[in-house]
Amino acid sequence: MSDPRLHNVLIIGSGPAGLTAAIYAARANLKPICIEGFNAGGLIAGGQLMFTTDVENFPGFPEGIHGAELMQRMRDQAERQGAELVTADVQKVDFSARPFKVWVGEGEDVLHLAKAVIIATGARANYLGLPSEDQLKNKGVSACAVCDGALYRGQDVVVVGGGDSAMEEASYLAGLCKSVTLVHRRDEFRASKAMQNRLTSHDRIRILFSHVVEDVLDVAEDRVTAVRVKDLKTGDPSIVPCQAMFVAIGHTPMTELFKGQVEMHSNGYLRTQPSTATTSVPGVFAAGDVADWVYRQAVTAAGTGCMAALECERWLSSHEA
Ligand code: NAP
Repeated sequence: MSDPRLHNVLIIGSGPAGLTAAIYAARANLKPICIEGFNAGGLIAGGQLMFTTDVENFPGFPEGIHGAELMQRMRDQAERQGAELVTADVQKVDFSARPFKVWVGEGEDVLHLAKAVIIATGARANYLGLPSEDQLKNKGVSACAVCDGALYRGQDVVVVGGGDSAMEEASYLAGLCKSVTLVHRRDEFRASKAMQNRLTSHDRIRILFSHVVEDVLDVAEDRVTAVRVKDLKTGDPSIVPCQAMFVAIGHTPMTELFKGQVEMHSNGYLRTQPSTATTSVPGVFAAGDVADWVYRQAVTAAGTGCMAALECERWLSSHEA
């Protein structure tokens, strides 16, 4: 086996944070390598925006842009500036000594060494945790309307959640499906008013406030035929016939790899020094949703990716001087 390559900066993740960091680091002539991911945690290279339809709030796109197209443009820009992209998952890291060690690929088969690391692994979708939900994943249960919605064209579907993601999933599906039943556990939405307004234009969306999903039917048939919901105010159960259930109830940071290596908050997100991308390990920086449960926007992720690359460049020059 050949000797491991030593990089100035290795970036883990390829959402807006990772690719912006790659663009800035490449322009600083750091020759960054970006391990863009393959399918870690159910995500794909490009991150959550790959599952988003129209992005209407990323500056510079007055008409909006499809999430996957925006990510392709960022990827092209990173490559054009000289970043090396590797389509694989990081399996293990060791930040206990420099150069840092990062094992990449199935079977941890490629070891990379890096003088500095930028973590931009993002966050992944949460599920309700019902056994039937788990058994029917990819058989009608999904966390991605953009990926799977077309399979249920002209059919009845359920969306669970009350945040912006649930609004987005419901309005997207209403454009494809016969009916969308939105199930939310409280009697008001968490979503922004602008996102809630998207629902009002659709007469195919029915909202069940103060309801929870108790079971997904029918495991015996190996496909979704309905969900059983409970009205939290009356305790009454009822059946909502449907062919798919889309879960949109928030996210979990992709920090499993870094447990015991860098400090985290109690909710699992990486801890950075206020207003910086600096983690508890000198030379390791964090950007994007992996360290942000407050803003979680593509534009803030890109902004912190830029911060991470600039801090990384300064850190490398002060340590190599
Ligand atoms: P979120 O804002 O955390 O909302 C999660 C929703 O799921 C909440 O309504 C929550 O209910 C519900 N929920 C959580 N756990 C649940 C459970 N076990 N059972 C039933 N319901 C449950 O997550 P998000 O909607 O994914 O949004 C995340 C961030 O991304 C937000 O900052 C959002 O603004 C942003 N975002 C923006 C856009 C956009 O601008 N285009 C699109 C998508 C997301 P409660 O309300 O009762 O807590």
